[in-house]
Amino acid sequence: MIIVLRPDATREQIDHIVERVKGLGLSVHISKGKERTILGVIGDESVLEGLPLEVLPGVEKVMPILKPYKLVSREFRREDTVIDVDGIKIGGRQVQIIAGPCSIETKELLFDAAKKVKKAGARFLRGGAFKPRTSPYAFQGLGEEGLKYLAEAKKKTGMPVVTEIMDPRDLDIIYQHTDIIQIGARNMQNFRLLTEVGRVDKPVLLKRGLSATLKEFLMSAEYIAAEGNHKIILCERGIRTFETSVRNTLDLSAIPVIKEETHLPVIVDPSHAVGRWGMVAPMAKAAIAAGADGLMIEVHSDPENALCDGAQSLQPDKFAVLMKELKKIAEAVGRKM
Ligand code: PEP
Ligand code: MN
Repeated sequence: MIIVLRPDATREQIDHIVERVKGLGLSVHISKGKERTILGVIGDESVLEGLPLEVLPGVEKVMPILKPYKLVSREFRREDTVIDVDGIKIGGRQVQIIAGPCSIETKELLFDAAKKVKKAGARFLRGGAFKPRTSPYAFQGLGEEGLKYLAEAKKKTGMPVVTEIMDPRDLDIIYQHTDIIQIGARNMQNFRLLTEVGRVDKPVLLKRGLSATLKEFLMSAEYIAAEGNHKIILCERGIRTFETSVRNTLDLSAIPVIKEETHLPVIVDPSHAVGRWGMVAPMAKAAIAAGADGLMIEVHSDPENALCDGAQSLQPDKFAVLMKELKKIAEAVGRKM
């Protein structure tokens, strides 16, 4: 349930309410909005039967949260969540572009891509060190060595970095080398992994599962939030449908649905959605037009020889052209780049 506090509720009153509710074995999440503070109460609410919360000083009203996802729902927090990474804001008026190779292959290739995407206007660098490959014989990523290159690329360019975690045992090492922790589509319902990243203080980029409904997607975000980490960026990356002409079907309607249902930022990955570089640009533009807070785009300096996802990777010069076009679209929908 949600406890809406009076605008003039004092610190002492809030502490008292939190103490009473926690004393009953429930967890309380405090959400400070511009105008007032809201307390989200999670747990078995039947224990509240003997405690009419409305009578506590500072409480304005008590409302049930009707959605199955609580902390990530718009009901819990009306204002958009804006996530600050090294001073760059995700979820605000500025649209953020994350770009870079699918996987980190060599230091030189990574640095080259990093330099070029930065010049074109990307604000985050992506690169996988632990790769979720369909075949056990395909390139699995450089692991820790790749993470070190990624951290070096950050030092060189100043761009914060994003990389994927596949196994909770890698959390410490990934935490040390990245700014945003990515959970890939295949692990969207790896609940142990969600719980672990929910316990750290770094933003999590959660990708939608290949055949997950939006409700399931948001329930996965709730797993992370329930552990205390509310810095969650949702990423639509295409879903499996009967259509085979593209790798996946980009669900553009996920953007307005997520915006209505949650307060979390939502970005789109057109690369994994279409699987072909020639179709990345139109889908990227459509995503910004539809209200996405950002994009994640695969860029490789030598796509033909890429060890992973070369077919969908943009060459840096094509990416630079796309960035100019995206700027115009962002401005047309009241955003900036
Ligand atoms: C990726 O971002 O490289 C990736 C593997 O994406 P997804 O989990 O969406 O397939
Ligand atoms: Mn990829």
